[in-house]
Amino acid sequence: MDSQYDIAVIGGGLVGKAAAFAAAQAGFSVVHIAPAAPPDRRTSALMGPSVDLMQKVGLIRDPAALGVPLSQIRIIDATGRLLRAPETLFDAAEFDLEAFGWNFANIRLGEAFDSAGADLATLDIRQTSLAEAQRVGETWHLTLEDGTACAAKLLVGADGKGSKVRKLAGIGVRQHDFKQAALVCDLELERPIGACSVEFHYPNGPFTLVPAGGARANLVWIDTPETLNAARANPDALATALAQKSQRLFGKLVPLTGAHVFPLSSIFVNRAGKDAAVLVGEAAHAFPPIGAQGFNLGLRDVADLLRALDLANRSAYGWAGATADKYAHMRAADLMRTGTFVDTLFRSLLSDHLPAQALRTVGLWTLKTVPPLRRFAIGFGMGRS
Ligand SMILES: Cc1cc2nc3c(=O)[nH]c(=O)nc-3n(C[C@H](O)[C@H](O)[C@H](O)COP(=O)(O)OP(=O)(O)OC[C@H]3O[C@@H](n4cnc5c(N)ncnc54)[C@H](O)[C@@H]3O)c2cc1C
Repeated sequence: MDSQYDIAVIGGGLVGKAAAFAAAQAGFSVVHIAPAAPPDRRTSALMGPSVDLMQKVGLIRDPAALGVPLSQIRIIDATGRLLRAPETLFDAAEFDLEAFGWNFANIRLGEAFDSAGADLATLDIRQTSLAEAQRVGETWHLTLEDGTACAAKLLVGADGKGSKVRKLAGIGVRQHDFKQAALVCDLELERPIGACSVEFHYPNGPFTLVPAGGARANLVWIDTPETLNAARANPDALATALAQKSQRLFGKLVPLTGAHVFPLSSIFVNRAGKDAAVLVGEAAHAFPPIGAQGFNLGLRDVADLLRALDLANRSAYGWAGATADKYAHMRAADLMRTGTFVDTLFRSLLSDHLPAQALRTVGLWTLKTVPPLRRFAIGFGMGRS
């Protein structure tokens, strides 16, 4: 007979690792279907509540041992448009915080999550992919690409934008592929940015330097794929672009790693759980990397999954179906609010229409000058409102 588990988590990205560990730590028997993947060269700016959650469930211990604090956010409108916003600075001290959050290399977070789960008796990790799954009665029967099979009551889809679990559960999705992509690489700066994340807003998308410790910064540059691929392929073109886009404010910017380009899309699901299957991370939501929301939202998925599991009565028939419904209900407002906010913000940054530019400019002026709004915006960005 196939091995039986309470929960099968599909997908070995950071959200899948966090969900599998957290569910196993909560006492559920978990099989984690996590195929080998190339190293994730991105970095994640994670807000205070996300870091608190990772510490609380035991995914990481001391954030200072893994990442770099983010205490300031500086936004520079470099669009050169008729209606430009003023430069805006948010300082954590103004909100009685030591830092808004921390910046981590995804590779280091992944290693920390792996070592946290290494000795958990309730966690069984299989380095293969989900090939097929079928729900019979209250059990999902899974066929894996390595030819083995297993069964679980609750299916957790952490299998990214093209989620197979989403299709299996028949969950509706709206997807939009943007014309922009994102280039990431690590840089050394002649004049360090300290703990301040600096965002230059250009007509094709933001160029953001995120503190990575000492004189280093992580670059997230959004532009057309043609521009980014040309810069990636030619060190001289990259050096010129770095100097221009940073407006030479930080002296010479020297790449420390190769550049990687990621396509950008947005994904909205009509619900995050159905038929004893739930979606977490980019299987449920994706948007461009502005305002550092994606993985933060994925960790909030994990927090709500834990809350829904905490309410589950495992001896009752159909507990997994009830858990998926509860989870979908819990996640609905946050997914709608955050997805709509980031999508609208991104489109307003790129818009050539004067009314949209005017709205954004007025928005940034009010954020610069009205303290309660600044508080609200920071609370929202941190996932608190
Ligand atoms: C340039 C960039 C910068 C970003 N910066 C930030 C930031 O600063 N802060 C922030 O909060 N977010 C950020 N994000 C978003 C964040 O990186 C993502 O939200 C997060 O990494 C998504 O993780 P995930 O585990 O859901 O998906 P993924 O990392 O895509 O993992 C999905 C996994 O599922 C696996 N899979 C697929 N199909 C199957 C199958 N059939 N069986 C088994 N496994 C399968 C894949 O192999 C993959 O490993 C950024 C994104 C980009 C592109």
